[in-house]
Amino acid sequence: MEPSTTGVLVIGGGQAGLAAGYYLRRAQVPFVILDASTGPGGAWPRTWPSLRLFSPADYARLPGWPMPPWHDGFPPASHVVDYLARYEERYQLPIERPTYVRSVTAGADGLIVGTTRGEWHAQHVISATGTWTHPFWPAYPGARAYRGRQLHTVHYRAPDEFTGQHVLVVGGGNSGAQIVAELSAITRTTWATHRPPRYLPDDVDGRVLFQLATRRAIALESGQPDPGGISGLGDIVMVPEVRAARDRGDLRPQPMFDALTRDGARWGTTETPVDAIIWSTGFRPALDHLRPLRLREHDGTITMTGTRAAREPRLHLLGYGDWTGPGSATILGVGRTARASVASIVG
Ligand code: FAD
Repeated sequence: MEPSTTGVLVIGGGQAGLAAGYYLRRAQVPFVILDASTGPGGAWPRTWPSLRLFSPADYARLPGWPMPPWHDGFPPASHVVDYLARYEERYQLPIERPTYVRSVTAGADGLIVGTTRGEWHAQHVISATGTWTHPFWPAYPGARAYRGRQLHTVHYRAPDEFTGQHVLVVGGGNSGAQIVAELSAITRTTWATHRPPRYLPDDVDGRVLFQLATRRAIALESGQPDPGGISGLGDIVMVPEVRAARDRGDLRPQPMFDALTRDGARWGTTETPVDAIIWSTGFRPALDHLRPLRLREHDGTITMTGTRAAREPRLHLLGYGDWTGPGSATILGVGRTARASVASIVG
């Protein structure tokens, strides 16, 4: 079969891929978006249903068309899925689903993209594959000996299935805190964190985080010293459910256990039996398809020059984390990096 050709191939049809599509369409560049998912929404249909955004809808908008307001404060994941589905329809973005990209290799005059539905040749590739397909499970002594149920945040759906059980939640970030908050309301919950969780002040939500990201982007663009991201402030956004758990006295983090055992976890000589362990230990960038280009550094990221991979300037990276652009892994922040990426392609 002859390879298909296009100017820009976007890999991933989540919020980052759609933001890229918006600017590519506006610049009238020929492009196609390839997405491995069977339907719209990127990672959002895979989150647990009670997950809410940490800011109101107007602080979670993609370029061009804002997210419709949600009647009750911070929107749930289903509202984001609906928004992304309508966004891609509104701008008639050319998305092929499901198409999984297996590899990107360097060709003489473009990049060669191998997929489950044939080969593509493109002048530029924008990789926007997110992190949710790559949950991170840290290795701990005894993990294989443990006989209870182990799951990652990506597999968590709702607290009800754990009623009457003792659940160990591992991880001191937002997802760990939110899962502890809703589990501890109905069942016995232990929370183990690598370092003490750092709570943001109650009045800091996505709006403040976005303002900080904007200030940082402006400083970096104008060659000023990096004022730092949000990490100087803390990690955990005090969404209403987390605040409620704190007020109930249910946010009681413990240091990490020394080992897992057959029936639970051991701190020093004290063993605590648990029925299930939920690993809320984060994600890694989904970059397997870029392996042939050999661009990854030891920390799993790729060295960037602006929005491009420093050692393969025909490859742009979008989303993933702040290393591709300030706020690039958020709904509101990704638009800026997408615009810069398309501007550098168009020249
Ligand atoms: P994704 O949404 O993951 O989309 C990537 C797409 O690429 C998917 O459709 C996937 O199927 C596809 N794909 C993957 N690999 C391939 C491949 N090889 N070939 C083809 N397609 C592929 N952000 C906010 O702005 N506000 C919030 O309140 C917020 N809350 C969050 C809460 C949690 C618990 C987490 C974990 C994140 C939250 N985020 C929030 C962060 C962020 O918005 C998401 O991580 C977002 O999903 C990133 O979008 P993306 O388009 O980069 O990737």
